Amino acid sequence: RELVVSFGEMLIDFVPTVAGVSLAEAPAFLKAPGGAPANVAIAVSRLGGGAAFVGKLGDDEFGRMLAAILRDNGVDDGGVVFDAGARTALAFVTLRADGEREFMFYRNPSADMLLTADELNVELIKRAAVFHYGSISLIAEPCRSAHLRAMEIAKEAGALLSYDPNLREALWPSRDEARTQILSIWDQADIVKVSEVELEFLTGINSVEDDVVMKLWRPTMKLLLVTLGDQGCKYYARDFRGAVPSFKVQQVDTTGAGDAFVGALLRKIVQDPSSLQDQKKLEDAIKFANACGAITTTKKGAIPSLPAETEVLQLIEKA
Ligand code: ATP
Repeated sequence: RELVVSFGEMLIDFVPTVAGVSLAEAPAFLKAPGGAPANVAIAVSRLGGGAAFVGKLGDDEFGRMLAAILRDNGVDDGGVVFDAGARTALAFVTLRADGEREFMFYRNPSADMLLTADELNVELIKRAAVFHYGSISLIAEPCRSAHLRAMEIAKEAGALLSYDPNLREALWPSRDEARTQILSIWDQADIVKVSEVELEFLTGINSVEDDVVMKLWRPTMKLLLVTLGDQGCKYYARDFRGAVPSFKVQQVDTTGAGDAFVGALLRKIVQDPSSLQDQKKLEDAIKFANACGAITTTKKGAIPSLPAETEVLQLIEKA
């Protein structure tokens, strides 16, 4: 039982054909399939692992294109349902010259928000060794209830729960609401991964010192991770904690690095769940995840830059 089942949104990002412009200045956009949970499933599959995606797409050309991308990448799409009355979600994204990311979402509501608990592929979710999710699926009903039910089904069936909140402030009615809802399912997860930005957003403190990170620790957790971009990451387990540096690479586009990191880590954990209790094994798994994240930053886009296992092992060997 090594299946990673990822739950949530899959959508199309539209990114400007030229770098460093605002959305208004962009002369044209390229389609970049994404959505963090879908990226994680594809990351696992690229590394040779079993992966499935659960979520809703529009019964339109874009939705069918995304489902085909899952299948072409070896991801089980048995949990994908199509909504005849709503469109596949779109997001226009740009990295402006000032380094700020600008998002504009078309979700009013989009198909991903309309998944209901009744539409869940229960048998598929029950086969998960790890059930992974974010927080965007918590923003609106009926998807929120479907998300909570899917977590319950996975947990009852013995899966580890993995949570990467993946904060997108623009999608929430307010910062307070985002914080409250993101933390409302904090205690259920076995594995939680946050970025530096999310750590500050959730704790209100701009620091990655241990005492700040520990504000997010719960006794129910097995592993808490804080990713630090080119600095690698810090990890906190029940009986040990530490930091693992990343690898030196030529960074081109960081989109998907966090998802590649999560996918790689989950791949290692399903292969050997004892990694969560063994510091040496855990550090090896994190090193593998760092390398996977690092490689993803060397090419444009998320899905096209997710590496195969051999590429990851090569980077580790070379270092
Ligand atoms: P995302 O941009 O996908 O939301 P994130 O903020 O969740 O990403 P990051 O910290 O940017 O996550 O990256 C995840 C992991 O990828 C890092 O912990 C690190 O191991 C690796 N990584 C990211 N950027 C670089 C880089 N420039 N050089 C080397 N490794 C990197």
